[in-house]
Amino acid sequence: MKHLVLLGAGHAHVHVLARLAQRVKLAPLPFRVTLIAPYPQQIYSGMLPGHVAGHYSLAQCSIALTGLLQSAGVTYLQARGTRLDAARQTIILGQGEPPQELHYDLLSVNTGPVMDRERIEQLMPGAREHALFLRPIESFSPLWQRLLALARQQPLRVAVIGAGAAGVELAFAMKHQLPDCPVTLVCGGASPVANYSLAVQQRVLQQLRLRGITVLPQSCTAIAADHITLDGVGQLACDAPVLALGAQAPRWLAGSGLALDKEGFIAVNAFQQSVSHPFVFAAGDVASRIDAPHPRSGVYAVRAAPALSSNLMAAVSGRPLQDYTPPIKTLNLLSCGARYAIASRGNWSAQGAWVWYWKDWIDRRFMARTQQG
Ligand SMILES: Cc1cc2nc3c(=O)[nH]c(=O)nc-3n(C[C@H](O)[C@H](O)[C@H](O)COP(=O)(O)OP(=O)(O)OC[C@H]3O[C@@H](n4cnc5c(N)ncnc54)[C@H](O)[C@@H]3O)c2cc1C
Repeated sequence: MKHLVLLGAGHAHVHVLARLAQRVKLAPLPFRVTLIAPYPQQIYSGMLPGHVAGHYSLAQCSIALTGLLQSAGVTYLQARGTRLDAARQTIILGQGEPPQELHYDLLSVNTGPVMDRERIEQLMPGAREHALFLRPIESFSPLWQRLLALARQQPLRVAVIGAGAAGVELAFAMKHQLPDCPVTLVCGGASPVANYSLAVQQRVLQQLRLRGITVLPQSCTAIAADHITLDGVGQLACDAPVLALGAQAPRWLAGSGLALDKEGFIAVNAFQQSVSHPFVFAAGDVASRIDAPHPRSGVYAVRAAPALSSNLMAAVSGRPLQDYTPPIKTLNLLSCGARYAIASRGNWSAQGAWVWYWKDWIDRRFMARTQQG
């Protein structure tokens, strides 16, 4: 039997598992499937700011993989892929000696973005020792619980470093949960949500002001136990520096032999298939559509999932692949801590409590669907 290996339990692979679960209800699969992922549950990032703000429990934002894996008859290996040899069709798992190898006939990668600690440490010495890293999200949640407990005993000075959508949502959420703690958003030389329209940037700035969050345009250049250093400004007192920097490609791809884009993400074609190795597929933030570049976000990962799923089934049984066109515009919903949010799609934008309830409905429906399989 051919062996399909799913590396990472990102948004797209959760969908693949659900599709497999539906398929095995009709007939046993004519191929073997293994999922490799470091955690048996996947935290849905879209709801993480709501968890930090206190609107959702961790369980409400977690997709438990066990039920899906059982229904789909998929073998689960709780591990992290640390190397990939595309020529030998082999993945190395973990850091053990001798290395644990797994051979695949067909591989699908959906491991998401990383925060490369080594690279970040070079940019901001002290980050490794003193900062809270947003990724992996699964490790962030317990860190946040500890921070919350400490901040309830005595106010802490919080700085969120990185002002993309994730950093902004997180700053709003933290300020909502910790109203007595000063929260600063450090923007790294750009405006908050710089990749959004000007109208959305203005809406975000207005909400940040309204909610008492200090916005600093500078870059952070070093992190210490009780302060951070800001480029050209000096030190800012800070007890809890939280790093919410943009997506980076995992280092282990560099030696894989796969064709990568200039930032190191897997270069894929309209079938979500590696442009260099036809037995490798990829979706979500780890992949780059060479023919149709688009932003990295959970929405794009989810939208690519049905095409990825169909093409994996087609490839494993030798059927023709189908191309997929990512949407040009997507709906983006930014929560502002309280039950209030900003919506945008292209040049259109709006805000209000109703936007938050709309986002809440979309997120809960997404979770319910994934849990059903
Ligand atoms: C706070 C926050 C809020 C966000 N809100 C939104 C939002 O509202 N809308 C939106 O569109 N986007 C949002 N994003 C962006 C979104 O999280 C990412 O774009 C999205 O998670 C990418 O999905 P993915 O499927 O590629 O990977 P992920 O969801 O990151 O999943 C990757 C999976 O692979 C596993 N994995 C990682 N490395 C390995 C390895 N080496 N071996 C095996 N498994 C591995 C991980 O454990 C995880 O299970 C948000 C991000 C953050 C941080």
